[in-house]
Amino acid sequence: MTNKRDYYEILGVSKTAVADEIKKAYHQQALKFHPDKNPGDKSAEEKFKEATEAYQILSDSEKRKQYDQYGHQAFGPQGPQVDYSNLEDIFSEIFGNRRGGVESIFDIFFGQGGGGGRRRSSRTGSDGADLKIEMTLDLAETLESREKTIELSRLEPCVDCKGHGGSGRHTCSECGGRGQVAYRQGFFTFASTCGRCSGAGTTMKSTCAECRGSGVKRAKKKITLTIPAGVEDGMQFRMKSEGDSGSGDGGRGDLYVFVHVRPHPRFERQNTDLVTDVTVSYVEAILGSEVELKDISGDTLSVKIPAGTRHGALLRLRDKGLPSIETGRRGDMLARVNVDIPKNVSSRERQLLLEIADLHATHQKGFFNKVKDALG
Ligand SMILES: [Zn+2]
Ligand SMILES: [Zn+2]
Repeated sequence: MTNKRDYYEILGVSKTAVADEIKKAYHQQALKFHPDKNPGDKSAEEKFKEATEAYQILSDSEKRKQYDQYGHQAFGPQGPQVDYSNLEDIFSEIFGNRRGGVESIFDIFFGQGGGGGRRRSSRTGSDGADLKIEMTLDLAETLESREKTIELSRLEPCVDCKGHGGSGRHTCSECGGRGQVAYRQGFFTFASTCGRCSGAGTTMKSTCAECRGSGVKRAKKKITLTIPAGVEDGMQFRMKSEGDSGSGDGGRGDLYVFVHVRPHPRFERQNTDLVTDVTVSYVEAILGSEVELKDISGDTLSVKIPAGTRHGALLRLRDKGLPSIETGRRGDMLARVNVDIPKNVSSRERQLLLEIADLHATHQKGFFNKVKDALG
């Protein structure tokens, strides 16, 4: 069953309204919801179509009589078929001969299918393809959000024909814009795709030579992307409607940006922390020291090595890591201590080490003796 609104209600006229009142009412609605005045507004488009359908029925005395008697059921479960062949006359009468206006109205009918929920057998044109680009950043470049301008080759609406594919677009004379032609066989009526317009419902007087009627042409286009701070290798971003332009009524595709982050020679990423190696001599590890270390931005930091630092110890330098892509908060830098044990030592060093060893042995012996004494 249909739950469509009453045609009189849509136009805001009484059931006894005369033809002139109906026309005036439709004129007001059509101007109000005209697609040129409400670009991209789907509900205005729907209202425009609804009012147009109501007007087509109520301005035709025969159809109006049927509607008055049976309501929406007069036109079957699909609703009335929009009569494309008289749309142009209606619009020209109301809006004058503004071609542009008429064409944008036609776009909504041909793009969306006719009024009354009846979908057309085919849409003209097709959606643009999604595009994919890859982008490689250095690790240090992820510290802040970056604007990157890239040039890509994508389909754009043809300049010569403004994307129409030609000029003199008009309702197909064969099918009256329905895209289908009906033929009868006995009691039955069959529909088949119109051969003249291939189901599009419109044909061109002349086809654009520049795009050969497709309405689109490949062109180089510079676009600027913003890559957020803290981006990680392998992340992907979708930029809506930055892909190929569609042809005809087709929408634009999207652009997918795949981000690669080059590995850094000195830093290893662990989420937002950066791990790096710092090499100290065994003497520095034992006695403590202060060493210089470059952070990811290239700034030199002074790092305190506490006395008695073990090999593999991690020294934390707060907020010197990478920003989190969600919060922007920076992680830490972790300096992993590498204690360098020399393979060869000078004879002097060796002598001193032997003395230390001796000292250790005495110390150890003394310790063991104390333990022995304690145990009795
Ligand atoms: Zn046709
Ligand atoms: Zn063209």
